[in-house]
Amino acid sequence: MSTLDVLSEDEQLVVRTVRDFVDKEVRPVARELEHANTYPEVLIAQMKRLGIFGLAIPTEYGGTPVSTPCFVLVTEELARGWMSLAGAMGGHTVVAKLLLHYGTEQQKRRFLPTMATGETRATIALTEPSGGSDLQALRTVARKDADGGYLINGSKTWITNSRRSALIALLCKTDPEAKPAHRGISILLVEHGPGLTVSRDLPKLGYKGVESCELSFDDHRAPADAVLGGTEGKGFAQMMKGLETGRLQVAARALGVGRAALEDALAYAQERESFGKPIWQHQSIGNYLADMATSLTAARQLTLYAAREAEAGRRVDMEAGMAKLFASETALQIALNAVRIHGGYGYSTEFDVERYFRDAPLMIVGEGTNEIQRNVTASQLVKRGGLDR
Ligand SMILES: Cc1cc2nc3c(=O)[nH]c(=O)nc-3n(C[C@H](O)[C@H](O)[C@H](O)COP(=O)(O)OP(=O)(O)OC[C@H]3O[C@@H](n4cnc5c(N)ncnc54)[C@H](O)[C@@H]3O)c2cc1C
Repeated sequence: MSTLDVLSEDEQLVVRTVRDFVDKEVRPVARELEHANTYPEVLIAQMKRLGIFGLAIPTEYGGTPVSTPCFVLVTEELARGWMSLAGAMGGHTVVAKLLLHYGTEQQKRRFLPTMATGETRATIALTEPSGGSDLQALRTVARKDADGGYLINGSKTWITNSRRSALIALLCKTDPEAKPAHRGISILLVEHGPGLTVSRDLPKLGYKGVESCELSFDDHRAPADAVLGGTEGKGFAQMMKGLETGRLQVAARALGVGRAALEDALAYAQERESFGKPIWQHQSIGNYLADMATSLTAARQLTLYAAREAEAGRRVDMEAGMAKLFASETALQIALNAVRIHGGYGYSTEFDVERYFRDAPLMIVGEGTNEIQRNVTASQLVKRGGLDR
């Protein structure tokens, strides 16, 4: 059975189209763009034309929506070509879901149609220099000003795509004194303007080409209707729901990087010879390949399971967390083994495996570290009385 069999024929076509795009347009240029740290202008334009930025947006708002399993497999394809491309639509999709679930009709009509075409790109801003795991301790504050709007002060860091995203879903405190703290947290839909500075592009190990930046808010004004859904104090719960999509997306990115590493290693192990035979015939190398394929298949099944649960409308904080945890640790191990299998060439920037090895660690950290995923899973296990619902 092919992985795509879980999808309708129409959705299989969507994934195949993206697969072709990756093989023909992305893989031939990814290494060069990566090493030059070049923003992939042409590829992003092609992704817009393919409708990739509208895959989570209903037709009434101009999108071409697909099921969550299809979204996962599209993301896997993009990341197989270059993880940075999947990153370019990660936060964007989380914001689309936030708007759909919680936005007022006016907010949906304002942002979703141009987000669907990719004309408006969006990102999420949660992490601050003082911490990203403990979000209730965040310090960015939006205070009501005299005309009923908000004045925002604070700083965010590691915000991906933020230079090019016209829309930023900003997690901040509208009531810094609230107890418990999450009751004072809101999401503000923020746009660039005076008082918002993209202060720095952060240098990174991998995930090149797309920018991850520091943002500085210094009396940045946002209108009164910038609060997602119109009611303050709901932002923490809203973002936790949005992160279910984000974590599925990161799990899918890990599948893509893991698959690319396995495919390269499998090909190389059949070409390269030592001691008179292709190296895959040495038991150690064959065992690596078998373990890589086994864990990748398990990771994909876990991710698709979480995606199906999400599609059924169920809460998937634990399921998406488990998928993200397992798929990212798997990708890291597969990338390392791909380097081993390539011997010295695995360390060469003239091959792609060193890129997979640099990209894989992001997935164990981003969208909530794997330590946090374990915390979520353990507390959900206790709350739900085990795995079965
Ligand atoms: C390339 C890149 C892109 C990113 N893009 C974005 C983005 O677009 N938007 C955004 O908002 N953020 C983004 N992030 C930030 C990312 O989400 C955070 O780095 C991550 O959530 C961890 O936060 P931190 O770095 O502050 O680590 P900390 O929270 O300081 O954690 C440090 C260590 O302590 C552990 N730890 C902390 N608390 C606990 C606990 N309770 N139990 C167990 N262990 C714990 C962590 O797991 C980690 O190992 C990005 C990060 C990177 C590297």
